[in-house]
Amino acid sequence: MSYETLPLDVTDVPRNQPADPSTVARWRTLGARGLDLLFPWCCVHCDGEIRPSERGSANDYLCLPCRGHLTFSPLELCRSCGGPLTGGASESCRLGGGEAVEDDGNLGFGQCSRCVDRQRAGMPSSLDGVLWSWVYASPISTAVTAMKFRGLDYLADKMAASALDHVHDRLPVVDAIVPVPLHWSRRWARGYDQAELLAVGLSRRLGLARERWLRRARRTSAQSLLNETERRANLASAFRLRRKARPQGRRILLVDDVITTGATLEAAAGALKNGGATQIFALAVARTPQPEELFEL
Ligand SMILES: [Zn+2]
Ligand SMILES: [Zn+2]
Repeated sequence: MSYETLPLDVTDVPRNQPADPSTVARWRTLGARGLDLLFPWCCVHCDGEIRPSERGSANDYLCLPCRGHLTFSPLELCRSCGGPLTGGASESCRLGGGEAVEDDGNLGFGQCSRCVDRQRAGMPSSLDGVLWSWVYASPISTAVTAMKFRGLDYLADKMAASALDHVHDRLPVVDAIVPVPLHWSRRWARGYDQAELLAVGLSRRLGLARERWLRRARRTSAQSLLNETERRANLASAFRLRRKARPQGRRILLVDDVITTGATLEAAAGALKNGGATQIFALAVARTPQPEELFEL
């Protein structure tokens, strides 16, 4: 039967009567319970059950006891490396044993002694502020690993929401959100780029454009086996601007999943600043504490 031969008079078609709302609610509840039995929500860290009453918040990929073990970032962070500024941005910083510069009006971000030393040695930072939500330790490390290596890409949107919750009051005004990209071969092997998914979640909530302005020009060797100096050398000129990138005069929020030494963010920020961006801030889900900071935690 062609579309032309379909009957035009549909008055004889019986209309569905609206169902009793209480019956609908009952079936919905039964349906949800059935789904819970078939596919129970489990914590990505401990596999414990997440009850219906524990769902609905951004961190509901973790059970309540695991949520209790999350370690949030301090409020005062070094604007160049994201390290904690013990005692506040304008006081002497104990980390590294040197002094910290006074808060110079850079939106409340001070600088730790290590970054001050680096700046004095002629290696200024391209970052104007670094924010992150949690110390990279369990249970958040398990969740990040699941997001990156177990294919649980939906966690990125939830992590973006909860990271934003934590830093929202300190977030500077920016014009665009730029993810720190994976090399195309890594993205192809994984099927997605977790930093880009985080950036999607942030741009939707902040109403800002997500711009893929950076690309990794070469595949860098595994960073986790290198010390900080080797990481910086490994990453030098690793990032390039895409041909369509327009960072000139823009304030940018760089987004990545985990900060280890800050060398990756620094390299990505450098490429954007060389392209004319005025300010670069960075936001990550978590940060690995440096060895000397472990004494402080
Ligand atoms: Zn758990
Ligand atoms: Zn620093």
